[in-house]
Amino acid sequence: MDTKSSIIINQTEKYGAHNYNPLPIVISKAEGVWVEDPEGNRYMDMLSAYSALNQGHRHPHILKALYEQAEKVTLTSRAFHSETLGAFYEKLALYTGKPMILPMNTGAEAVETAIKAVRRWGYEVKGIEADQAEIIVCTGNFHGRTVTITSFSSSPEYQRGFGPFTPGFRIIPYGDVEALRAAIGPNTAAFLFEPIQGEAGIVIPQEGYLRSCYELCQANNVLFVADEIQTGFGRTGRRFASDWEGVTPDLYIMGKALGGGVFPISAVAGDRQVLELFEPGSHGSTFGGNPLGCAVAIAALEVLENERLAERSDELGTYFLKRLQEIKLPLIAEVRGRGLFIGIDLTVAARPYCEALKAKGLLCKETHEHIIRLAPPLTITREELDWAWQQVADVLHQA
Ligand code: PLP
Repeated sequence: MDTKSSIIINQTEKYGAHNYNPLPIVISKAEGVWVEDPEGNRYMDMLSAYSALNQGHRHPHILKALYEQAEKVTLTSRAFHSETLGAFYEKLALYTGKPMILPMNTGAEAVETAIKAVRRWGYEVKGIEADQAEIIVCTGNFHGRTVTITSFSSSPEYQRGFGPFTPGFRIIPYGDVEALRAAIGPNTAAFLFEPIQGEAGIVIPQEGYLRSCYELCQANNVLFVADEIQTGFGRTGRRFASDWEGVTPDLYIMGKALGGGVFPISAVAGDRQVLELFEPGSHGSTFGGNPLGCAVAIAALEVLENERLAERSDELGTYFLKRLQEIKLPLIAEVRGRGLFIGIDLTVAARPYCEALKAKGLLCKETHEHIIRLAPPLTITREELDWAWQQVADVLHQA
């Protein structure tokens, strides 16, 4: 007999482009750390929509902001002012310590915004000759899916059939300071990086890497641009993963949990000297900075602060990581992580283990074939993590 879930999955597969390969589960309800399928089976969410749900599903404070704003006004466009935009700017400026904010909707749009910003800065402030600006990026990077962003991906599957690509990027090995030193030239406008590479499989660079790169960029008048879309907002046990090495990027690129898992909103935060180079007409987005997104983002930031979610991620992540590292099996190459951002690197394909975990009521997703990423909402409890640990240990032992 067809279940409700199988009917929904068939409909989705029939009419939708197949640019994803989801686990065969339909989520029809969710609250906090837990989700439910149409048949009433409960699962723990250990993916958090790729870290967009740091505050947990349907956080009441964030939903309240959404409902209240929806009762007033949802969209003004930037042709007019709204009551929420300035308040959002101020809140995010205080959170990041950066004086200027530029709002967008998705992560990729925020990355594109940062690319435009640093190129302008390269020409108008640094004095790079027209159309010669270069941005240095890293192997294994994931910054989104637009043509320009995929232009500097080192993953062939992200690029196949999508050329011609955008010039002006130079790829160096991630984690290699000397490669950055060698790559910087007179036309280098910026170094764009992820402080921990999420999609590449929770790749954590050696301690000191970020600081050395930061100093190199400072010394060479190169902008230091952190993509904190996945690592920001407490995920790694700090407000931003850059905080682990005490470095303040020239630009923060943010998305995902900025919208509290409720509404898409992204932003770039930076110094005036860079962001004030945008004049009216140079950049924008119809929905960017809309009242609904701004109200939600303010509430999402309040939840992070009020519930001390970065500290919670640090404490619980350290505990969970240690327990996971105690599982010693030949199929585990490495267990690594920062905060509640953990990768179990297997010597074999990870997908069957994600499917086995789903059967046990735990949802997670493989990344790069052989890595299981565990990134639950930061509101998770120690008892829930103990339960998750048991499921992971059982599945890995049954292999
Ligand atoms: N940058 C990083 C580090 C990401 O992890 C992602 C998404 O996974 C993006 C950019 C792209 O964000 P979006 O999917 O919202 O465009």
